Amino acid sequence: MAVAGVAPTSGLDDGPALLDELLELAEQARLRGDYRTGAAHARRAVAIARSAAGAADLARALHCLANQLLRLGEHEASIAASRDALVQFERTGDDRGTCLELTALGMAFSELGLFDEALEGLAEAREIALRVGERSLLYWVHNRIGVVHSCMGEHEQADVHLVHALELGDERDIEAGFCILNNLADNATGLVPALRAAGREADAQAALAAALDRAAQGLRLARAADHPYRMAICLDNLGMLLGHAGRYPEAFGAIDEALDLATRHGYRGLQYSAWRHRASVHRLRGEFAEAIRGLTQVLRRAEETGQTPDAMTAHEQLCEAYEQTGDHRLALHHYRRYHLLERQARSDVAAVRARLMTHHFELDNARLEAENARLETELHRVRSRELEEDKQALQRQARQLDRYAHEDHLTGLPNRRWIELRLPELIAMADGDREEPDLWLAIIDVDRFKGVNDRYGHPLGDEVLRRMAGLLRDGLPGELPGAMVARLGGEEFLLALAGVDARQAAEACEALRARVAAFDWGRLAAGLHVTASFGLAGHRRDDDHGALLGRADAQLYRAKRNGRNRVEAA
Ligand code: GH3
Ligand code: MG
Ligand code: MG
Repeated sequence: MAVAGVAPTSGLDDGPALLDELLELAEQARLRGDYRTGAAHARRAVAIARSAAGAADLARALHCLANQLLRLGEHEASIAASRDALVQFERTGDDRGTCLELTALGMAFSELGLFDEALEGLAEAREIALRVGERSLLYWVHNRIGVVHSCMGEHEQADVHLVHALELGDERDIEAGFCILNNLADNATGLVPALRAAGREADAQAALAAALDRAAQGLRLARAADHPYRMAICLDNLGMLLGHAGRYPEAFGAIDEALDLATRHGYRGLQYSAWRHRASVHRLRGEFAEAIRGLTQVLRRAEETGQTPDAMTAHEQLCEAYEQTGDHRLALHHYRRYHLLERQARSDVAAVRARLMTHHFELDNARLEAENARLETELHRVRSRELEEDKQALQRQARQLDRYAHEDHLTGLPNRRWIELRLPELIAMADGDREEPDLWLAIIDVDRFKGVNDRYGHPLGDEVLRRMAGLLRDGLPGELPGAMVARLGGEEFLLALAGVDARQAAEACEALRARVAAFDWGRLAAGLHVTASFGLAGHRRDDDHGALLGRADAQLYRAKRNGRNRVEAA
């Protein structure tokens, strides 16, 4: 008999404390062999995880439940939990969890006789284990593939995988070590007679020697751990192997010890195995009557308790035993009974397969729907992010266009369009009822600028305009918050002064004029000297901006005529 061996639980996120506590209790119960209690804790953990925790915790709880159910022989329920866990592991991108879960699933499938499904899932698990590059994962996968092949009667293939697993195994992991040794010994109980039947005696001898050694090693581990189940299972396999080696008294000794442990601790499956092995050793020794007596008892018990697989094996072996005694009539009887049950078992497997398929479709559907919802949310998120980005880019563009539209790109000052927009607003705000104007405009024109261009070149002319802009913008007295400078075009600038009287306006212009004249223009080009003329006009009642600008221009003309580098005001 093969031993399951439970792969370590995948290390995942810390869940809520209660969930962790329940899973810890479940694990303790599993280690005691109390799977019923373990499953109850695991079920509660699943319920909590479903309502409160994330996918990682739910996966952990489902994995635990699936393992406990497997040991309880509730294979279909175990498969359902495993598949559900797989969805959660995949959702969280937990490769390790996925691999371990597929390994557990493979075991449940093979227990139900669904070998194709088992091997398919295990092939996937193997790929993941290779990709992750974790030795212990690969160990469990090969161990399980070996056991499935062994169940299928493909003992040589099973041996290859189990030996590979043995090489991969970590010697410090006692449970894993025991598991693989026992599985190798168990497989050899089928491999040795198969090799003999094929006339390969030398291979059979080699396999037997290796298996006896491994069974003995396994038994030492089991005895050291004082684990009755492991001792029983090892003794049972060792007994059968000793029988194949012709060491009959030792064989019966080991099998009887296994039977005693199995009976005392209530390991039903192990009991049947020991009875069968006992009968097989009798047959090997040529004691057919003994064998038949034992097998008949096994058959009766199996029929009483409805253990169809055990009954089938009993019929099969009884058929062989009667054939060996020459009683073909009874051999045929058991042959027929065996096939009857086999047909029944086949349709049972088909029914299980159909049930599982339905469940699988439902789960697949749920999985696809969940994935779809996730993608839609993601899409929505990306779309709104893109929209937000688009919006911001457009706003940036709009702000830039707005700036370009109202900014002179040579000097960075507001341009003529801006003046046309702002000036009517300033005029509308001006208090036309006052005796004195409170809005003043000055047109500032660079003196003999054509000569600058002609003498120093156009690029230097541009630089002069930029400097001029800076001098005008930054030279305004600080106590004039309503002052603004713009470029009218060419070498002409506009100064607007709101909320000031005639004296303040004239002083501001004079300060700017002096600043321009005092600037060290020689820094830009040797011999360069630049001045500007100012034509200042105050707003009068019913002035529109054209009239106001016209009067400022007239004053500028006066300033030019009166010798330039001066301020004229009206
Ligand atoms: P005045 O003292 O009478 O104003 O003499 P002016 O030479 O400054 O007057 P005029 O109107 O004859 O010449 C203006 C010159 O300004 C003509 C033109 O080439 C130059 N100008 C206009 N815009 C720009 C510009 O953006 N860059 C440069 N470098 N020169 C410009
Ligand atoms: Mg001019
Ligand atoms: Mg000029």
